Amino acid sequence: MTTQAHPVAAAPPRPGPAARVDLLHAGSAERYRRLVAAGVDRVARRVAGVDGPCTGVGPDVLTRRIDPIDLDRPLGDPIAALDELEDVYLRDAVWFHHPRYLAHLNCPVALPALLGEAVLSAVNSSLDTWDQSGGATLIERRLIGWTAGRLGLGSTADGVFTSGGSQSNLQALLLAREEACARHGAGRELLPRLRVLVSAAGHFSVRKSADLLGLAPEAVVAVPTDAGRRMRPEAVRRELDRCRQAGGVPMAVVATAGTTDFGSIDPLPELAELCAIDRVWLHVDAAYGCGLLVSPTRRHLLAGVEGADSVTVDFHKSFFQPVSSSAVLVRDRRTLRHATYHADYLNPARSTQPNQVDKSLQTTRRFDALKLWLTLRVLGPDAVGALFDEVLDRAAAAWSLVDADPRFEALAGSPLSTVVFRYLPVDRFRADEANRHARAALAASGAAMVAATVVDGRQFLKFTLLNPETTVADVGQVLDLIAAHAGGYAR
Ligand SMILES: *Cc1c(COP(=O)(O)O)cnc(C)c1O
Repeated sequence: MTTQAHPVAAAPPRPGPAARVDLLHAGSAERYRRLVAAGVDRVARRVAGVDGPCTGVGPDVLTRRIDPIDLDRPLGDPIAALDELEDVYLRDAVWFHHPRYLAHLNCPVALPALLGEAVLSAVNSSLDTWDQSGGATLIERRLIGWTAGRLGLGSTADGVFTSGGSQSNLQALLLAREEACARHGAGRELLPRLRVLVSAAGHFSVRKSADLLGLAPEAVVAVPTDAGRRMRPEAVRRELDRCRQAGGVPMAVVATAGTTDFGSIDPLPELAELCAIDRVWLHVDAAYGCGLLVSPTRRHLLAGVEGADSVTVDFHKSFFQPVSSSAVLVRDRRTLRHATYHADYLNPARSTQPNQVDKSLQTTRRFDALKLWLTLRVLGPDAVGALFDEVLDRAAAAWSLVDADPRFEALAGSPLSTVVFRYLPVDRFRADEANRHARAALAASGAAMVAATVVDGRQFLKFTLLNPETTVADVGQVLDLIAAHAGGYAR
C-alpha cells in the first residue's frame, strides 16, 4: 500500500458527444409508442417460442456475458440494447408461463395486468400523496375496500398496498407491537418480553420482521403442527399460557392461510376465537391462499379470516398479477396510525387531502393497484377465482399421480397447489443426495423446474402449481425425468 492520495478518477471515455436523454413528453410520444412496441414485440416472440422454463445456463456463463459490458459506453440505440439484452437476459430467462415451471410461487400473469403495468410506469404516479397521484389514490382505496369486503373485515377496515408479503407481514407485526405496548401502557421497555406465535410451517419473514422490530431473539415461538401441517389450537393455547407464565407478553398469533411448502391453512375460526378471548392480535398471512377469496368453490377454506386483526394478501401469487402487488389489511383503521409520520414538505398534520403515505412504510410508491384494477374491470373476480380453482384441481390430480407412483413418496395432499414428495431409491440408500441431484439435473437440462424443501431432516422435492396450462401429462413427464435423474444417481 502506498500512502499516495488517490488521483481523481479520470472522466470515462466517451464514444462521441453524449446522446440527449430521451424523456417521455409531448414531443417524444410517438417514439415512446414505437419503443415500447419494439420491447413488447421481443417479449411476445420469446414467450411464444420458449420450449422449456429455462435454458439451464448457470451464473458462470451469464457472468462472462454481463461483466465485460462497459456501462460507461452506451450503445446509443435501443434496438441494439434489446439485442444485447437477448444475450444477457431474455434468452436464458426463467419463464413462469411454461407448463413445466413447477418451482416457486410464481404465476403466469393476466394480460389486463400487463396493460396496467405499462400504463402505471409511463404515467409514473406516486401513491404517497394526493398531489402526486390524483385518482390513483382513490382507485387504490377502492381496491383495499373491495379486498376488505371479501375478507369480511367490516366497516372499520382499511389497509394499503405493499411491495410484497414480507413487507405486509412486517407492517402487520409493527401495528401489533404498538398495540401491545399501548395496551400495557408501556414503551419500548416491553420489547424484550414480547412474543409472536406462528406455525412451525409459517413463513420466515415473520422471524425477520421480529428482528427488524427489535424483539428478542427468542421472540418467535414456532408452534407444532398436526399431520396436515396445521397449527393446533390447543398447542397455541398451551404456548400462550407458557409464555405468560415465563413473564412474556403475547404480541400476536400469526396464522398462515396457505403455508409456502404445504399450502396448509391453519384453523382460522378456532384461532380467531382464541385470540378474541385472549385479546391477542391475530394476523393471518394469506400471501398464498388469498386467491380463495374469489374462488367459486373453495371460499369456505378461508372461513374465520374475518376474525383477523390484520391480513396479508399477495395478489402477485394467486391473483395472477405481475410482481409486485400485495396488500396489508386491518380490521380497525385506527391502528394504521402507528405507521403515520408527518413531514412539512409532504403530509403536514393539518392537510385534509386524502393520502396513503400516512398508512404506509414506503414514501414514493408504485401504483401497483392499477394492475388488479384493470384485471377486475376486464375479467372480473369470478374469472380469476375460476382460474385459481382450475390450478387447485390440477394440483389435486398431480398429487394423486405422485401418490400412486411406487417410485415416489408423497406427503399429505395440500388444500392449495403444492405437492411435496421425494424419489425413493429401492434400498433408500442416499435418497437425500439423489433428490438433490435430480432437481439440479432437471434445471440444468432446461426441461423442467421444481423446488425443494427439507421435511423432518429429509430432502424432499416440491411442485408448486400456479399455471392452468400445466397438464397432468406434464406432471407425469416431469416425474419420469426426476426418476431417471435420481435413479441414475442412486445406482
Ligand atoms: C410468499 C410468501 C410470503 C412472502 O411474500 P413476498 O411477496 O415474497 O414478500 C409470506 N408468507 C407466505 C405464506 C408466503 O407464501
